Amino acid sequence: MKAEIICIGTELLLGDTINTNASWIARELANMGVSVYHHIVVGDNHQRLAEAYRQALSRADLILCTGGLGPTQDDMTKEALAQVSGRPLERNALAAQWLVERFDARNYQMAANNWRQADFPMGSIPLFNPNGTAPGCHLILENQQSVFLMPGPPREMKPMFESYVKPWIEKQSQVVLRSRVLHIIGIGESTAEEMIKDLISVQTNPTIAPYASYGEIKFRITAQAQSEEAAFELIEPVERELRVRFGDNVYGSDDDDLETVVFRLLKAHQLTIACAESCTGGFLAARLINVPGVSEVLLEGFITYSNESKIKRLAVSPTTLAQYGAVSAEVAAEMAVGVAQVSGANVGVATTGIAGPGGATPEKPVGLVYVGLAINGRVQTQEFYFPNNNRAGVRSRTVIKLLDWLRRELENPING
Ligand code: AMP
Ligand code: MG
Repeated sequence: MKAEIICIGTELLLGDTINTNASWIARELANMGVSVYHHIVVGDNHQRLAEAYRQALSRADLILCTGGLGPTQDDMTKEALAQVSGRPLERNALAAQWLVERFDARNYQMAANNWRQADFPMGSIPLFNPNGTAPGCHLILENQQSVFLMPGPPREMKPMFESYVKPWIEKQSQVVLRSRVLHIIGIGESTAEEMIKDLISVQTNPTIAPYASYGEIKFRITAQAQSEEAAFELIEPVERELRVRFGDNVYGSDDDDLETVVFRLLKAHQLTIACAESCTGGFLAARLINVPGVSEVLLEGFITYSNESKIKRLAVSPTTLAQYGAVSAEVAAEMAVGVAQVSGANVGVATTGIAGPGGATPEKPVGLVYVGLAINGRVQTQEFYFPNNNRAGVRSRTVIKLLDWLRRELENPING
């Protein structure tokens, strides 16, 4: 099966929006063994869009389009396809019903324009969009070429791809592709790849592909099989081997993130947590608060930026501050113990560091950070150093390292 991707929108041509849809869809198709020979980006212009369809239809079996399904005049994705395919637009009753229901549920009045979102080239199958108003569609042409139209916003496009397009392609090709992602932290990317080089070089099904992302590495294990079950049977031994090799550096799988894993561990141990943040200025609390249900474990967070605040809110001793300075292991320890005490939390975490660009001394360079962790009264500290980072970098790396440390501590039975 040969596929082609058409992304529609003048903002893409201008560089105002990065064309993440194309790379995401392309990767999905590659994983499914579908060849993609061309990507087209075209602005909101009827003629050039029609030309793009003609070109794609002259070369590909499967054409995946995103963007331009909105209600306004510059959205002409469907009009141009209607023209090129010789299938005039007609109102689809099911799509019209979805629109009415969506607007009713929000108590919105439907404008005349909105009805256009229910019009599709004749014979199209409408695709439900649970995350927006514009439905997509699937048009199968006489010669079995298929065109999928999907919305532009990635958060609408991806679920539509996953629930309709992907299963349809799998059915056509009679192969199911499933993958498992393992999240690894605490090892560099090249070291991690080195550690499983022998596996990567011999694997064809499943394949193992590394993805470096901020502060961690992901390995995606992907298997092709006749069924989902068979695909996971192929994945399972490879996953097990990777988990053995990376040990406790594997912090989670699939959609896990560090804060979710920390939340689960706190909950499992019935521990509550409170944060005292100086240099991270709320980043830590913000990440924890990303997790739905975190109120079960997170009691409160302080941004104690000044010395006075550390003294007043957390009962850090003025003598410790004077003797060691605010950026010190001693102060981090007192902050962690203090925040746990004032909040009545089992776990207190604290950060203090030099985010830069100013504030450095020869002994305390930019990027030097101390973190404190008090679990049931037992306090420990760590020193981190993130040279060559800007403020945002120092702050977010601190949070990642701290969450990872907390995760490792909570996985350790001593704290169970
Ligand atoms: P549209 O469906 O054309 O109204 O697009 C709505 C919004 O989706 C645009 O303003 C962009 O922010 C986003 N968008 C559209 N196409 C893409 C794309 N190819 N990649 C990433 N974002 C996109
Ligand atoms: Mg648009």
